[in-house]
Amino acid sequence: MTFKEKLRCVSFVIKMCRNRSKKILLLMVLRSLFCAVLPLIPAYFSSVIIDGLTQGGNLKALIKNIVLCAVLSGVFYFGSVVFKKLFLEEANILKDYESKTFEEQISSMDYELLEDADFQKNVKAYRVVYENNGGAVYGFWFFTGNFLEGVFSLLLSLVLIYPLIGKIISSAGKTGFLPIAVLCIFVLCIALILILVGNRYTKINNKVYRVFNEIFASFKYWFYFPSDYRKGKEIRIYSAQKLVESKHEEYMKKWEGINKKNTDIKIKYDSFIGVLQVLILGAFYLFTGLQAKWGAFSVGSFALFIGVSARLAEGIALITAITFVLGVVSDNIGYYKRVVETPRRKFKGTLPVEKRDDNRFEIEFKNVSFKYPGSDEYALKNLSVKLNIGKHFAVVGRNGSGKTTFIKLLYRLYDVDEGEITLNGINIKKYDLKEYMSLFSVVFQDFKLFSVPLSQNVTTSLEYDEEKLFRCLDKAGILGRVEEMPLKENSVLYKNFDDRGIEISGGEAQKLALARALYKDAPFVILDEPTAALDPVSEFEIYKRFNSLVEDKTAVYISHRLSSCRFCNEIYVFDGGRLVQKGSHEELVNMPGKYRELWTAQSVYYNAE
Ligand code: ADP
Repeated sequence: MTFKEKLRCVSFVIKMCRNRSKKILLLMVLRSLFCAVLPLIPAYFSSVIIDGLTQGGNLKALIKNIVLCAVLSGVFYFGSVVFKKLFLEEANILKDYESKTFEEQISSMDYELLEDADFQKNVKAYRVVYENNGGAVYGFWFFTGNFLEGVFSLLLSLVLIYPLIGKIISSAGKTGFLPIAVLCIFVLCIALILILVGNRYTKINNKVYRVFNEIFASFKYWFYFPSDYRKGKEIRIYSAQKLVESKHEEYMKKWEGINKKNTDIKIKYDSFIGVLQVLILGAFYLFTGLQAKWGAFSVGSFALFIGVSARLAEGIALITAITFVLGVVSDNIGYYKRVVETPRRKFKGTLPVEKRDDNRFEIEFKNVSFKYPGSDEYALKNLSVKLNIGKHFAVVGRNGSGKTTFIKLLYRLYDVDEGEITLNGINIKKYDLKEYMSLFSVVFQDFKLFSVPLSQNVTTSLEYDEEKLFRCLDKAGILGRVEEMPLKENSVLYKNFDDRGIEISGGEAQKLALARALYKDAPFVILDEPTAALDPVSEFEIYKRFNSLVEDKTAVYISHRLSSCRFCNEIYVFDGGRLVQKGSHEELVNMPGKYRELWTAQSVYYNAE
């Protein structure tokens, strides 16, 4: 990342936080100010008290200064604790906002990015930042707070010793300006070294961190692998224990190695910073001692100079936090920024979808050709088909012939660049994406059910129409099984989070996915191999009830079991990404071609059984 990009990341996070939390900036300033002032109070008052004692000041003034020192220390201590707490609370609110916006973007952005390797890399890097550092924004405020504390410490220290500087300069007439010049040059050199070393450390840390991210992801995967009960079967049946163990050990060692490297670098860096701090401190002590010896200032001023110089050295070290802000932190913000600023290309369309009760929606593919991003091969070539209103279609073909791609394009998971798809004569890209998607109920081959109550799986909502839910469960042929469950429709699926979670079979899961599609009640129903995991009886039932299941909706049914396509009005036969035949089952089976070829092959198989 260039310096300009890093600054852009910093300005992005400030803008984002300004809109979310007006208080964070003020709280950070107060926290930093109070933390910077606190150690300077005893330094200042000890000098006043010592001067009072050595120069014969009165007892009343002495007591007043002691009380004032104690009260101010108490106030600033209390203030620093309160502001630190409030600051962290506000930073946590921003952290929650950060993770919420990230997840929202991930779940609603263009689907094809989920399959994009570079994008996924960025997402993974951000997740590690979130898991390890509590997010990018949190880190930003933490390190910027440290930097500001350093700036305040330096400025306030200089204000405190300012009167002494005049005394030193006037006494320099006697002792010469050399000691002052040497001290200033020395401190400046050390500060410069601190910045350079901080910068170098950030770069090394960044490199190590990148490797750390990759190893951590693999380590986590293998660490949780054996305890995932769904993987347990394969591990046992195929005796994969050794493989899992060795993978776990490999990544554990790698992780330990990188952790050690990380710690070693940090220890080296911290020690180096410590040594430099001691050097600055030593230089101040030597200088102060000499000044006191040459009679430039009093014993009290000597104590003040000593006390303040410790804070000066610490302030210089804290200021190096800026290298983290412009190094690791801005990179982390970059991961987040890239994701949340990714444009939603598909959201450009604004046309509302006509609201119709008669479901008269017609979709047409006109000369559509499509290649997946990064692929040179056409997954679909020159496809022209019309999905007439209320008809039931089947799409058949061998694996890899383009059936699922056809559905992905229809549902706008991907957009086409060659040819066009229209809804009632208008290019589907012109429609508002959410409204367009609301026209479809799809059951994909690799549908997913979630570890939430069964009712929420089907309705995908916290509030739902109970009667409709039961009707859909009944239509999908799973109501009987649900009624047998102890918590009925409130039973949580799977045991990920709930001991009472219900384990369901592949066929039952498929029926629930079907019920979900029915509950959505959209004008188009798309079933991608909906019966693949069903037993023959359930499969037969679904076929028999298919027409009543989808009612007068337009249905697209994908299958490579041709026997299940017979009830469809029209069958499209795909081969190598092209539409090679279309017609009814009777027409196609009675003509030479791909369909008859597939049909014959499958009937031989069924007959043999
Ligand atoms: P089917 O559903 O008929 O089995 P698909 O539509 O899934 O076939 O696949 C059609 C072609 O597109 C295949 O050659 C497949 O390898 C390719 N393909 C599918 N998904 C992707 C993807 N995400 N990226 C690249 N190529 C893909």
